[in-house]
Amino acid sequence: RTMVVSLIGRPNVGKSSIFNRLMRKAHKAITHDKPGVTRDRHYGIATFEELAHTRSVETILVDTGGFYPTKIEENVPKKYDQVMNKFFNIMTEQARIAIKESDLILFVVDSREGVLPFDQAIADYIRTQRKEFWVLVNKYDTDKQEGEELEFYQLGIGEEQLFKISAEHGLGLLDLKQAIHKKV
Ligand code: GDP
Ligand code: MG
Repeated sequence: RTMVVSLIGRPNVGKSSIFNRLMRKAHKAITHDKPGVTRDRHYGIATFEELAHTRSVETILVDTGGFYPTKIEENVPKKYDQVMNKFFNIMTEQARIAIKESDLILFVVDSREGVLPFDQAIADYIRTQRKEFWVLVNKYDTDKQEGEELEFYQLGIGEEQLFKISAEHGLGLLDLKQAIHKKV
């Protein structure tokens, strides 16, 4: 089946900007707004046309609205400890659904802000779901920011899971596309 790749992360880190960048050459953007089920998740089909000369692939790309408070305490699985329960409650249901339905998660962080506790919590949550994730260190707009990416290794990832990108300036995106293309 077609691989599902979702963009996860705090509000304002650049998820939608990255979604638009990855979708740019697809011409196939679709949006689902079924209340309660797919609310706030946007689906697109990325075809990586600039790499299609080697192999033609398609992935379903999911943009999520981010994380904000929701009231769903009754759905918290008992296995989580108190800290995790708290986090579970402030994660939107749509983000959790997106994680569940994904084969690969693009976890977006802000290079200028560094690792916030919330980022650590998101990484921990993704791990409880046993999903592969890559960390996209976004807003890496210039080489003057060299080194800002290093603290994101605290999230417990290897070099091959970290991508320095700038959605705004279009930097690092070809590497990312190549890596996704290779995985499909
Ligand atoms: P989302 O809430 O995670 O979907 O984030 P958005 O894609 O809406 O972007 C939030 C803000 O960050 C917007 O003002 C974007 O223009 C800005 N932004 C996104 N990517 C970059 C980037 O690579 N560099 C800079 N400097 N700003 C960015
Ligand atoms: Mg967005």
